[in-house]
Amino acid sequence: MRIGTGYDSHRFEQGRQLMLGGVNIPGHPGLSGHSDGDAIAHAVIDAILGAAAAGDIGSHFPQEDDTWKGADSMDLLEQTRRVLEERGFRVVNIDVTVICERPKIAPHIDAMKKRLGAVLQVTSDRVSIKGKSNEGLGWIGAGEGVAVHSVALIDQCSNFPDSGGTGRGSRTL
Ligand code: MG
Repeated sequence: MRIGTGYDSHRFEQGRQLMLGGVNIPGHPGLSGHSDGDAIAHAVIDAILGAAAAGDIGSHFPQEDDTWKGADSMDLLEQTRRVLEERGFRVVNIDVTVICERPKIAPHIDAMKKRLGAVLQVTSDRVSIKGKSNEGLGWIGAGEGVAVHSVALIDQCSNFPDSGGTGRGSRTL
């Protein structure tokens, strides 16, 4: 097994749709960015790539490349999962902490878990998302943007119970 961490931050920007964890949250300005600005997706991508020592989001989806302009970050996450699989790994679980004053994250957590789980091809009980405020401190406290921390655990494909492997690979995860 291998572990990786990811971090991302984005500024709120009027006139953009707010996308977080692949879920549209209405009634709040969106996040600035080359793609849809989904900071949860980006932090998770970096955690997964970090676990595989496979670079980072910028090396796989360069901002200079117009291919990714306005991209749905779930597409980037799906491509990241493929990069992982090409290297012989799959995601075991991810854990995410979202830090912002508004919007409240809790009402959207179930939908985010389902969306991220579907893209990463893990059950949603392997996806954890926690929302926190910054107690009014600093730029997050001032409501300027959102910060996201993530951890991902990955394992060799052969170690998953559905891989048809034997011995170590047949253990229940
Ligand atoms: Mg980002």
